[in-house]
Amino acid sequence: MARPEVTAFIALGGNLGDAAQTLRDAVAALTTTPGIGRVRCSSLYRTAPVQSSGPDYVNAVAEVSTTLSAPALLDVLQAIENRAGRQRPYLNAPRTLDLDLLLYGSARIESPRLTVPHPRMRERAFVLVPLHEMAPGLVSQEALAAVQGQHIAPGQTPR
Ligand code: ADP
Ligand code: MG
Repeated sequence: MARPEVTAFIALGGNLGDAAQTLRDAVAALTTTPGIGRVRCSSLYRTAPVQSSGPDYVNAVAEVSTTLSAPALLDVLQAIENRAGRQRPYLNAPRTLDLDLLLYGSARIESPRLTVPHPRMRERAFVLVPLHEMAPGLVSQEALAAVQGQHIAPGQTPR
């Protein structure tokens, strides 16, 4: 039986190499993935590293409609990260590409490899600001105000 279409939100970030291009390539890869339909991406934001190091990050949020299960979608995200040369030498290391599943419909998931909604998304301006751009109803003014001390420079268009 066909699975229902679910709207999911994905955080994209990277701070090594041409991160803006890496993010654009990741969005293109999502678009051509079987089981992923419509893909919309926010503008690209520049942010100073939070709990990380190295050059500034480029961040964005993509909205996808998908018939993939949440674990299957995480598999897709990790495959795209790996193709972008993602390495994990230590926790919060600088990275070519990080793709995190923020929201999968209204699902709440607690499994060893997947927690949804993403547990740290509400602490991060680099997630909440582009998420608000994509889906204003999902991010309250109070939530934005709580992270307004974090510097985030808006956005080039994703194209
Ligand atoms: P981080 O994104 O926290 O900097 P990683 O990208 O290396 O670190 O991810 C570490 C692990 O987090 C992954 O192996 C994955 O199984 C797990 N994980 C749990 N929940 C999520 C989620 N919502 N989105 C992405 N990864 C998740
Ligand atoms: Mg990650």
